[in-house]
Amino acid sequence: MRDLAGFCIQARALIEDGPESIRRAGIRPTHTPAVLITRGHLTEQLTKIINLPQGERVKAFRLLVALLGVADERRRARFCANGCGHAWHHLGTGAGTEVATA
Ligand SMILES: [Zn+2]
Repeated sequence: MRDLAGFCIQARALIEDGPESIRRAGIRPTHTPAVLITRGHLTEQLTKIINLPQGERVKAFRLLVALLGVADERRRARFCANGCGHAWHHLGTGAGTEVATA
């Protein structure tokens, strides 16, 4: 969970990504992780979210995965349009086959 929260920060997740992440995670806006993520000071809230009790863990995990997806999509569209070194932005492009036939 700590790694996952770190990836969210690295992908420049924003407080504004909260509502879309909640929607994608399929959790209710009233669930504790959802309430925390929209409260501001994202880094602090992420620390709280990863330390939630066992009963909130699955919801917290789903939310952070969704948040990472939302933030990474934006980063990809905004900063990676002209190419980048993020290996996961080049999955499924057939790079493997190109190398094999080169
Ligand atoms: Zn990239």
